[in-house]
Amino acid sequence: MKLHEYQSKELLQRYGVTVPRGEVTADYTEAKSIAERLGGNVVVKAQVLMGGRGKAGGVKLFEDAQEAATFTRDLIGKRLVSIQNPAGMIVEKVLIAETVDIAKEFYLSVLLDRNIQRDIVMISAEGGMEIEEVAEKHPDAIVKVPVDPAWGLSDYELRKAVVDANIPKEAQGQMITMIKALVKAYRESDADLIEINPCALTPDNKLVAADAKVSIDENAMYRHKEYMATSADSAEDAIEAEASKRGIAYVRLGGDIGIMGNGAGLVMQSLDEINAAGGRPANFLDVGGGAQAERVKTCVEIILMDPNVKGLFINIFGGITRVDEVAKGVLAALNEIDVKVPVVARIEGTAVEEGRKILEGSKIIPAATVQEAAAKIVELAYA
Ligand code: GDP
Ligand code: MN
Repeated sequence: MKLHEYQSKELLQRYGVTVPRGEVTADYTEAKSIAERLGGNVVVKAQVLMGGRGKAGGVKLFEDAQEAATFTRDLIGKRLVSIQNPAGMIVEKVLIAETVDIAKEFYLSVLLDRNIQRDIVMISAEGGMEIEEVAEKHPDAIVKVPVDPAWGLSDYELRKAVVDANIPKEAQGQMITMIKALVKAYRESDADLIEINPCALTPDNKLVAADAKVSIDENAMYRHKEYMATSADSAEDAIEAEASKRGIAYVRLGGDIGIMGNGAGLVMQSLDEINAAGGRPANFLDVGGGAQAERVKTCVEIILMDPNVKGLFINIFGGITRVDEVAKGVLAALNEIDVKVPVVARIEGTAVEEGRKILEGSKIIPAATVQEAAAKIVELAYA
């Protein structure tokens, strides 16, 4: 789960990392007084959980409190769109921080490297730009240090790393201290990513985290309840966020056949069969066991929020879930929402006869097997 920049900075400050002074607001008058308090030289930064805010127009420097406040007012409620996030995110809050005078920009992160099954520290003297860009253009400019799970990092490893990364002498000691703080913060907050970009060196040689990103491992959220409130708006995709709010396991996949099944296994099978039939799944959605009609209706609504969906594929095997309940939910959804796309359903299991009766005469096309259903929906959706 991604934390906002201001939350990330608060967390890192507790570990001794230097961060610019700043406050969060959504209000013009408050923005003005914050900017005045900070001396007028401020940077206004959209607090949205996506990368590339600078390029998207969500980060701007000011020398005047009034102008910073006006920019704040204009930015709140706006949708920011970036290459990484074409759907965009609405700005609900901004961080107003004192402007850091930047002489040099570095990159610093701690993250989980699944390939080597270790946490690693990544350091680069090429800060400021996106790290993906550095990785592509100057892969040698990134130094990676695996963190030993038992021993952590030793001082000599850190000294070698900052020298290898071409961090200037005057910043090396401070960077080593900062890396140690990041690794400690990463461990203790169950993070799977901490990224400082830019990690700024001021003209008087102070190392400051000008930007910060922290992501907490979702499986450890029960230990970090203070961040639960952010969790609903932390999904990058607006539909995923809505699904998460309504308690539905939904992942958007970018294709155009909407998929609903009960049980993760059955949904995975549905994805495979749609692919095999030449279609592109739009989503993963697990209705869950024992799904009631109301919940099924919510699921159909979520799937159809995706404007790319050209067909709806339903794959239900009634065990705990009664097929007639699912059928009622789908029918209710079709009656309330104007479903313009074809719907094919493979239903089998508990109360299947009752279920089939409910669907009789509706626009839902029944199919006997998953393969038949997949072929049918692909044919109809792309017709
Ligand atoms: P991101 O684009 O979402 O990663 O947002 P950042 O916080 O990294 O800001 C984008 C860019 O704005 C940075 O790479 C800096 O070049 C610039 N920037 C942000 N904060 C400051 C600041 O305090 N001082 C200066 N001089 N530039 C800043
Ligand atoms: Mn940044």
